[in-house]
Amino acid sequence: MLSENNLAKFIELIQSYNKGEWVYPGVLIRKLGISQSQAYKVLDALKRLGLLEVNYELYCHECGQFKGPIFETFGGIPDELDCEYCGERLDPLDNSIVIYKMISD
Ligand SMILES: [Zn+2]
Repeated sequence: MLSENNLAKFIELIQSYNKGEWVYPGVLIRKLGISQSQAYKVLDALKRLGLLEVNYELYCHECGQFKGPIFETFGGIPDELDCEYCGERLDPLDNSIVIYKMISD
């Protein structure tokens, strides 16, 4: 789990999100200097507490761009989508990343 210092920073950071805003694991990793697995563990714990829900966004590995919109379920991602920046075919399995939506005030 997180060190006490990181936990305090994490709580401060998570409280800065408003309801309906998306929490990107990468932001926590950068701001807290924690590992990806640590970030997903704490975010998952908040999900279980009913503070966050899981959403999906598509990310193009070819050109490093995110492609909107954000999908509420994995099944809601279309099978056939091309990156609007470089034209690469995006596959929901390979190109979706998990983000979290704040659902509590
Ligand atoms: Zn692309």
